[in-house]
Amino acid sequence: MYRVLFASVLAVMVTLFASAAHAERQGDALPVCVTRAQPGMTPHHLLAGQAAFDCASSQGALPGGDYWAISPLVRRTGPLALQVASLWQDRITFYALYADGKIVSSSLDQHGAARHLQLGAIIEQRLPERAAPLVRLLWHIEGTGNLRGILRNARIVTPQESISANLKMAALYGGFAGLCIALLTYNLALWVALRYRFQLVYCVMVAALLLYALSSSGALAWAWPDLANNDRIRINYVTLGIAAVAAFAFARAFFEPSVFERHLGRLATVASGVMLLATLAFAVFSPIAPHLADRAYMYAFLVQMSVAGPLLWRAWRVRSDYLGMFVMAWGAPIALACLRAFSSLGLIGWSFWLDNSTLASMTVEALLSSIAVAYRIRVLSRERDLAREREIAALLLADTDSLTGLLNRRAFLKEVIGRSGEQTLLIADLDHFKRVNETIGHDGGDEVLRVFARTLRESVPPEALVARIGGEEFAIVAPADIAIEPRAILEKLRAGRMPYDVTVTASIGTCTGPLLREVDWKALYACADRALFEAKSAGRDRVRGRHLPDRWAA
Ligand code: GH3
Ligand code: MG
Ligand code: MG
Repeated sequence: MYRVLFASVLAVMVTLFASAAHAERQGDALPVCVTRAQPGMTPHHLLAGQAAFDCASSQGALPGGDYWAISPLVRRTGPLALQVASLWQDRITFYALYADGKIVSSSLDQHGAARHLQLGAIIEQRLPERAAPLVRLLWHIEGTGNLRGILRNARIVTPQESISANLKMAALYGGFAGLCIALLTYNLALWVALRYRFQLVYCVMVAALLLYALSSSGALAWAWPDLANNDRIRINYVTLGIAAVAAFAFARAFFEPSVFERHLGRLATVASGVMLLATLAFAVFSPIAPHLADRAYMYAFLVQMSVAGPLLWRAWRVRSDYLGMFVMAWGAPIALACLRAFSSLGLIGWSFWLDNSTLASMTVEALLSSIAVAYRIRVLSRERDLAREREIAALLLADTDSLTGLLNRRAFLKEVIGRSGEQTLLIADLDHFKRVNETIGHDGGDEVLRVFARTLRESVPPEALVARIGGEEFAIVAPADIAIEPRAILEKLRAGRMPYDVTVTASIGTCTGPLLREVDWKALYACADRALFEAKSAGRDRVRGRHLPDRWAA
């Protein structure tokens, strides 16, 4: 089972990575060098090569502010579009220098950037088609937060390449969104039926992942053209933060309670609290101090992810049933999330692979978590069935007489009082049972009681209720129109074999009347008991019947 799952997961990941990478490889990647904007810098000077650009250092180490970026190695003709990754900035302006000396420029503020977004969060602008080849590109980036770099993933694509990349990304994101919507619908419907808390937590996680995919892909900007691009990035942070917290809450609800006992439980609560706070802080403070808010968020993310280590260790120590499942479902997302956080903090380099790993790992997580949900439901349902069986057994035990297996007095009264129509009550009492006990011992007497109980049960129709209502006293109730022949019962008792071949007889008193209320029972019982007394007085081993006095029979 695990092997099949593992193979499927690998197949899904490879497919997703391959298609994402293929969509990415379209067009020419451009080398980019940057320099801080200084007063007096103009596009003409910069394009003429009159300023020193830094091509070697990592962009991540630079502070926020205004920058110029240049790509000196361009030589292309034909219909072209310019792409850059969408980043936290106030405005981006490009200047394209052509071989004939002409400079074409276009500027995008945050709303313009959002309107030019392609799937995969890529800002794309068409270049005019000119006879002279394009030779150099310059960008002016204003108000960058430098959360993921100053200018990333600059490339030149043809219109066909752009359409084809969009199509592939649309298929990927569409597939992911469809998966999320299906999982969400299915698990919500299941929650309505089963009401396990972890099902709701799972739905929150999938919903947050769906919103994150919608926002981080750029699709949100298509649906909401007035959205500012930095606000869209803010939505990315918030939805991813909520998804991370929900994923941990899900893990917590998912594992056996012993895994999250004491320290680890507290650690998980603190880590999730920190993550929520950092998410909230980013949502509120990012327009004022984007870099600081991003750092706080990334460290909180790492704190949250750091719980995974102790969690795995603890799950292994208590031999959790869910460890294998957890490693498969969350292993890749946690590892990739950590790498992304390291990359954002400048500890490792930026890579397109890393930036686009989220979709693949989220797909795996959502899929495998749904299998984990099914597994958990199976375990819980089994526990629930077992509890129900035990409850039924306990109820049965409370209603039956343990010696004979017949109904006990309490259950019998609960059953018979309230019956409509005339009912016949028979009270059967063993004759001289004290003597039987004295002859064959108490255990032998018990066995006699069992045989007598069986004889009674076998002598009456199934509709009749038979109960042991006292030591050696039994009662039978059946609707008056059902024929019960008490003499046949005594006959059968005489003919049957008793332990130690002891001779056992019984006397029976009968009475017929209503049984609607408790007073009816009292009257009917008193009447049948009197008939029994008459049978005993007349020499035992016989039947006597009585009628209720008229005032009861009314
Ligand atoms: P009678 O014919 O007048 O009914 O005489 P009896 O001896 O059967 O009546 P009595 O009510 O005086 O005695 C009933 C005896 O039944 C007394 C008690 O020891 C015995 N008995 C009651 N419950 C049990 C039981 O669970 N097991 C056994 N072995 N004996 C029981
Ligand atoms: Mg008796
Ligand atoms: Mg008795």
